[in-house]
Amino acid sequence: MSARNRIYPVFIPHLGCPHACVFCNQREITGAAAEEAMRQLNKLNELPPLEAGFELAFYGGSFTAIPVSEQIHYLEEAKRAVDRGVVRSIRLSTRPDAVDPKTLERLMRYGVTTVELGAQSMRDAVLKASGRGHTADDVRRAAQLIREAGIRLVLQMMTGLPEDDDSGAEDTAKELIALQPDAVRIYPTVIVRGTDLEKRWRRGEYQEHTVEDAVRVCARILPLFDRAGIPVIRLGLNPTEELSGGAALAGAYHPALGELVRSRILRNRIEQMLSERDCTGKTVTIRVPAKQLSQMIGQKRCNVDWLKARFDLMSISVISDQEAEEPIIESARSQKQVRSRP
Ligand code: SF4
Repeated sequence: MSARNRIYPVFIPHLGCPHACVFCNQREITGAAAEEAMRQLNKLNELPPLEAGFELAFYGGSFTAIPVSEQIHYLEEAKRAVDRGVVRSIRLSTRPDAVDPKTLERLMRYGVTTVELGAQSMRDAVLKASGRGHTADDVRRAAQLIREAGIRLVLQMMTGLPEDDDSGAEDTAKELIALQPDAVRIYPTVIVRGTDLEKRWRRGEYQEHTVEDAVRVCARILPLFDRAGIPVIRLGLNPTEELSGGAALAGAYHPALGELVRSRILRNRIEQMLSERDCTGKTVTIRVPAKQLSQMIGQKRCNVDWLKARFDLMSISVISDQEAEEPIIESARSQKQVRSRP
């Protein structure tokens, strides 16, 4: 089996985490998870060398915030897998206030190539209300140190946290772009069972960030990253059996959130284009590149129906056009013109 582009995930439990992020349920995880992480690493080192090794990814919180002796324990096993040719690169995620030059020097010694930094927001009020325990300045400082160390930087942001809004998310996106990350992940807030956010939501102190809220705000910020040439490598929490099985109580949990957002971006573009012409009561034809056809139509034809109602159109048709590089609107035609066409 080829391992090219394959991720070998190892979940690192954040035992005794002193922080209290409102959206997190990691603190419930027990010592059994630590044993499982080591078991997975040992299993990796039983594999024969591979032509194109795995990318080993330490997931699950803040790697560099766990005790140094434990970090070294995991990193030694990871480095052994690199030296044996089973792993070609190592990535891990951590908190901005758990990054300093000495820590980065240690990561580089063991061959870590990518650090994912959980920025979440660049508004201090949002970070405070979310119990993050760090500031936006910590994000700026850590991002700069990671880049200066020559390690690949991935920044993570969230939408829909307490005290945040659409313009806050837009400001955060712009600030993250200024930090020049190699890639970004966007995680709209999900209310997970057992979190502080669940308690606040049940007490009526926090309003859920719905799928619609997430689609609306992400359709504003995704084009900012696109224009800056920064890949968004994940949008929305990865669906898991646990989340789909009931742990995701409310909020922006949807298995195809990225698709919904791309679809909304297209709808927004067509809305802008149609608002610049007189098309009330007319028939409109939209030509789109083949790969955008289903996104343009939307799930259950939602974009087509929405545009038809928004502009009071007679009808609307969406056509795949091999020649089109972006959506094109054919002149809106009145019903009379449509009938007279051969
Ligand atoms: S998300 Fe926050 S509370 Fe959860 S493990 Fe990370 S730092 Fe700790």
